[in-house]
Amino acid sequence: MGGIGSGRRYHSGKDTTSDFHALDIRRLKKEGLLRPGKSSGWNWSRGGIKTAAINISAEIDRINLSYKSRSNGSDWKLMEYPVYLEWTECNLGGQRVWFTCPAKGCGARVAVLYGGAIFACRKCHDLAYASQRESYSDRAMRRADKIREKLGWGTGIANPRGGKPKGMHWRTFELLSYKYNSHALRSWEATAKWLESFRQRKI
Ligand SMILES: [Zn+2]
Repeated sequence: MGGIGSGRRYHSGKDTTSDFHALDIRRLKKEGLLRPGKSSGWNWSRGGIKTAAINISAEIDRINLSYKSRSNGSDWKLMEYPVYLEWTECNLGGQRVWFTCPAKGCGARVAVLYGGAIFACRKCHDLAYASQRESYSDRAMRRADKIREKLGWGTGIANPRGGKPKGMHWRTFELLSYKYNSHALRSWEATAKWLESFRQRKI
């Protein structure tokens, strides 16, 4: 860590968001980036190396984000969309400005947006993370089921294990059993974590 600009990286201390680039509206305001008509660049860096950059142009009720995004080696894609702003009255007078989360169907009023491929509130990123967990669990379950079929056990990891099919070498059976156990365990673990993430959000 260190280097000019590294202070702009926000550390939430939470795995699911600490890898994202955080955009804090209080900093944008302090540096005058919310002034209508203003267009500026915003960078993140780590160890003095620039890790991400976006352009922000401000209007009266929104800022427009524009940046290039690429996932898993695919082509760079230009991302451009508005993030609407909201103002609330403070108890001691004055106003506080907020982002409204631009993710589809969200619109939460937040001070910090986290950027992966899109900038969204923490809750939206947690949801995306949870659905990744879900597909990870599905994948492990499919692999476990394939092995169950080979062994003639019938599908479904909640069902009991069977024995060695007739004519199969013990070595093959042991190897398949070993692989089955690891896929089944991974699937259970991922499912448990996924359920836990829902319980914590009280959904
Ligand atoms: Zn959101």
